[in-house]
Amino acid sequence: MTILKVLHFPDERLRLKASPVKEITSKINNIAENMLEIMYTEGGIGLAATQVNIQKRIVVIDLSESKNKPIILINPEISKLEGKETTQEGCLSVPDYFDIVERAKNIEFSYRTLENQIITKIVDGLLAICIQHEIDHLNGKLFIDYLSPLKRNRLKKKIRKQRAEERHSESSKRLLEKNKSLNKIL
Ligand code: ZN
Repeated sequence: MTILKVLHFPDERLRLKASPVKEITSKINNIAENMLEIMYTEGGIGLAATQVNIQKRIVVIDLSESKNKPIILINPEISKLEGKETTQEGCLSVPDYFDIVERAKNIEFSYRTLENQIITKIVDGLLAICIQHEIDHLNGKLFIDYLSPLKRNRLKKKIRKQRAEERHSESSKRLLEKNKSLNKIL
């Protein structure tokens, strides 16, 4: 089993557009299973293949409290968007950041199941929001793209600062190790 890792913004691979799944093979089944596993481990309610560096149109979702009602969408596509709704969103690829995003309230969408059936549904609420968020991922788009430039810049600065701090603690750790070994030599 391959171990998948969730990519984090600003990783450029999150901007790649995923291609449709041509045939549902055991490999596709495996990918979906691995995606569900990592989504549950990381505490997400949805995950798109793009987020784990697989450029295929696969989405997994589970909105249930008990985390045992997975929905697997192959080649999901929205055919109708209606109404407007604002929700606070977060994303496994943008850790520790939440913000309000406006999306369509009701959607009509189709997808293929792992059993190769084509299903069309009309949904609203959190599921509609989640599907819009995940299909955006397949198209290389993130929820923070909807924020005002001011907010986005603030977020970028915050992430840069966090990374610098991480690097700083890494290099001080290395220095400490180096000193330790120097001490031994001395
Ligand atoms: Zn996301």
